[in-house]
Order: sequence, then C-alpha cells, then structure tokens
Amino acid sequence: MNPMNPMNSEPNIQDMTRITCDPPRPQPDNGEPRPVLEVRNVTRTYAGEPPVRALRGVSFAVRPGELVAVVGPSGSGKTTLLHLMGTLDRPSTGTVRITGCDVAAMSDRQLAALRATQIGFVFQQFFLSEHSTLVDNVADGLLYTGIRSADRRAQALNALGLVGLADRPDARPTQLSGGQRQRVAIARALVGRPSIVLADEPTGNLDSATGASIMELLGALHDAGVTIVVITHDRSLADRLPRRIEMLDGCIIADTASVMPAQAISVPVDSANAVPADDSRFRPGRQP
Ligand code: ADP
Ligand code: MG
Repeated sequence: MNPMNPMNSEPNIQDMTRITCDPPRPQPDNGEPRPVLEVRNVTRTYAGEPPVRALRGVSFAVRPGELVAVVGPSGSGKTTLLHLMGTLDRPSTGTVRITGCDVAAMSDRQLAALRATQIGFVFQQFFLSEHSTLVDNVADGLLYTGIRSADRRAQALNALGLVGLADRPDARPTQLSGGQRQRVAIARALVGRPSIVLADEPTGNLDSATGASIMELLGALHDAGVTIVVITHDRSLADRLPRRIEMLDGCIIADTASVMPAQAISVPVDSANAVPADDSRFRPGRQP
C-alpha cells in the first residue's frame, strides 16, 4: 500500500466494472433505501501474546445521506473499525457490506477497485503530496478510475471549489495552513463522488477553531447529500453531529440513530468556504 495515499493501491481497471454482489442482494422490501454500509457482528482480534480483541462484536448500518460520528476514547477500536469499513482490513468474524456487497466475497483487487470508486478517505495526517499542486493532489483521487487526465483535472478543480479553495489550484500544500490542507484532502476524498466518506480524526492535527470549521464543512457536505462517517475522540465535536455511535473497549455502548433534525447542525452560509446547501451533485442513492 502506498503510505502517501493508503486508499489507493492499484486495481486493474477491469476490476472496476466487475464490482457486483454475488449473488446480488435484493433491495429491502420495507421501502427503506439500502444501507451504504452494513457492519454485522464484526470482531477483529490482532495476533499477539496475548491477542488484542480490538472489536468484540459490533453491528450498525449507515443509510444514504447520513452523517455519523463514531466517538470513543483512545484504544476503543475506532481506527480498527474505520479500516474494516474502508475495506483496508478484513474482520476476524462477522460481515461488512459496502453498497450491499459483502467484502468477504471479494478479491483484494476487487476491494481496491471498490475503494477507488465508492469510498473517500480523510485522515488526521492529510497524506498530501508536498511536491504536487493542490489540483494534482485532488486529481490523485481519480487515479485508477479510467477517467482521462484532462477530465480528472476539471473534476479536481470542481472539488476544490466545494471546499473553498477554487482560487488556489496551483499552490503547493507547503503554502497552506493545516485547515486548508485538510480541505484539500476532503476535496480528494470527494472528487470521485464516492458512496461514502470515512474520516479518521480529521480534526486531530488542528486547533479547535480550525477543527470546528472542518466539521462545519463536513456538515455542509452532509446537507448536500454526502454520506459521511467521522471518527473522533472529541465528544464536543461529536455532540454536534446528527447521529453518534459510542465505542468503549471494542464494543458499541450507544447509538443515537437519527434523533436530531439536520438543521441542528449550524453551517454558516459562506460561499467561499462551504458547499451550497442545495447542491444536487451529492444526492444519496448512488450505486455501483
Ligand atoms: P482507537 O482508534 O479508538 O484509538 P484502535 O482501533 O487504534 O483504537 O486500537 C484498538 C486496540 O487495538 C488498542 O488496544 C490498540 O493498541 C490495538 N491495536 C490497534 N492496531 C493494532 C495492530 N495493528 N496490532 C496490534 N494491536 C493493535
Ligand atoms: Mg484511532
């Protein structure tokens, strides 16, 4: 795996077209949209003396358009869970489905293709290439998708606009603040219009005001229809999101589901920094 870009190992382009569920999973008949992500009775034990039971049987589903916080103290299993949700790792037992597809039934190449087309990642450390321009960093999110270079650049410019950086496409990450770097990383996660964005401690390297502005951006993207799971140990940030899954010692100890109305997330309307709330480019329901 490329450490600068851990979400992109190198799938064959043919694998992109072969991401199908085997057998196809029927749409639920209760009229509800199919979850983007389903985690069922998942455990993950790391080998060692003694073995570490990082996840001890967790279950939940994320529906299209949800914004979910996974919150818990250090060591509670959040990053392990993110790796399983992002198909970067496989569970010891239990099932993970992305857009209805059982991860266990897929080859490593198919999983790499699934990641490249369906999942956007945001990490605490940003993982930007310091020597590339912002637009090239964002266009990297479209590697392995078969999209032509000129189109990759156009889509990257568009994604930079979504995070308020449309005017600086040729800057380098070294010229940016931490908050701006994380915006670039978010643009890279969004550029392929993934079914779900997974963010692991996206504010962990930022001061609290900058962290709050990144959470506001995620709120604006949620309003535009993007499905997002944010992992954080910061309860005050998590408390502002519509749904919280609380973890402790590898278990889910609470899941609020959707109890707060979407309007409860206050997102300042700042055309320079946020996605328009009626942006239809990210309406949920995109399927592989
Ligand atoms: P969090 O992200 O909530 O801090 P982690 O998922 O990183 O939690 O870790 C959960 C537990 O699993 C911790 O006890 C941690 O030390 C352990 N752990 C995480 N990754 C590994 C690994 N690769 N090998 C062994 N133990 C690990
Ligand atoms: Mg962690």
